[in-house]
Order: sequence, then structure tokens, then C-alpha cells
Amino acid sequence: MFIGHFGVALVAKRVTPRTSLGTLVLAAQFVDLLWPIFLFCGLERVIIAPGETAVTPLDFISYPLSHSLFADLGWASLFAGIYKVIKRESAGAVCLWFVVMSHWVLDALSHRPDLPLYPGSSTFIGLGLWNSRAWTIVVESAIFLAGARIYARATHPRDPIGSLAFRSYVALLLLVYLINVFGPPPPSERAVAFAALGLWVFVFWAYFLDRHRVVNSPHAQQIDLFPSPDSPEAP
Ligand SMILES: [Zn+2]
Repeated sequence: MFIGHFGVALVAKRVTPRTSLGTLVLAAQFVDLLWPIFLFCGLERVIIAPGETAVTPLDFISYPLSHSLFADLGWASLFAGIYKVIKRESAGAVCLWFVVMSHWVLDALSHRPDLPLYPGSSTFIGLGLWNSRAWTIVVESAIFLAGARIYARATHPRDPIGSLAFRSYVALLLLVYLINVFGPPPPSERAVAFAALGLWVFVFWAYFLDRHRVVNSPHAQQIDLFPSPDSPEAP
């Protein structure tokens, strides 16, 4: 899954409003952001195999450190633990634990059975949503657009940048997604790893745009039932 993970991060802002969207995106995409580093280090492997599924030409030969269930439980606990130590905020840490774990759950929904239970396990999980391009786009776009709408209603722009940066973030993610789904297979495994590294841009961008937006108070959300020109925009 790709933009569905961003959808979870956007929804989570509603649950833990004091946590930056950047941290939430980092959590939702954490193991996919580690993955290219493990590829470059030779710890994990992917090959390009067009037709592997209807959606992705990638065959994830081995990725136990980034994408096994047990490893992800560890990453989620580490992520939440570091956040708790730095921010001293338990509710946010618990939410981040679930956001990191949501990545594995959504990947298990999308991938063919290639997600190991633990490093070295011969049990692989995957429900294979990626076997249908149409259903993948429906499910993933629904999660992402619902997330974008919830984030837009939970916050409002502090300045024009807050609006522009958010709208362009949503639009660019949708564009990258469509290129991913409909574009040609990547030229090499190395190109896959570099492209995956590029996803870090969306983490920094999320930190930036979140600083230009203000969380609505419960009172403001009530008023939002009767939208005015200044009320939070919908994407
Ligand atoms: Zn993943």
C-alpha cells in the first residue's frame, strides 16, 4: 500500500492533535522509510518482476527486518518509546504505536503472501488486494481522501502557506500514486531503492505544512458545522 498509509497519518492528527503531522507520517511510513536503507546495506532484497501482481511489478524476495510482524512490533514500540521520552506524552505515544503497526496491517491487506511473521519464519501473510488494480485504487484512495478530509477539518491554515502546502501535498501524493500504479516498471532495483528514499521528502514536507496550520479547538469544530469562508477547507 502507498497513499493509504498517509491516510492513516492524516486521520491520526484528529486523535493526537499535539503531534506533528510529520511525526505521524514518519510513523505510518516508518518501515517503508527504513526499507531502502536495508536494501542499500544488502540486508533485504527486492527484484523487478512485471506481472507479479496487477499493481506492483516488485517481488519482495526478503524483507524480514522492515516488514515482518514481529520486527514491526519492535519498531512500533521503539518509535512510541522514543516519542514518550522526548515529548513526555503517553496518549500520543500510544497512538503512534498503533500508527506504526497500521503499516503492517495495511500491507498485509495489499501484498500477496510475502510478509513473514518474524525473521526466518516460513509463514507469510498477505491477502492480495494488489491482484486487483481497480479495488486497490478504490480502497487506497478512500482511506487517503478520508484522511485528508479529516485532517483538513481538524486544522485550519495559519497563513496562506498552510493552505497551499497542504493542498499541494495531497495533490502530489495522488500524482505519485497514479504514476506508481499506471507507470512503467522501474528500470532497476537500485532505482527502486532511490525512489523509496525519496519518500523522506513527504515526511519533512508534512512537518513544514503542519507548522503552518492550527488545530481547531472543540469550539471551532462545532462552529464548523456551519461553514464560513474562514472555516477549514476540504481538499
Ligand atoms: Zn510497506
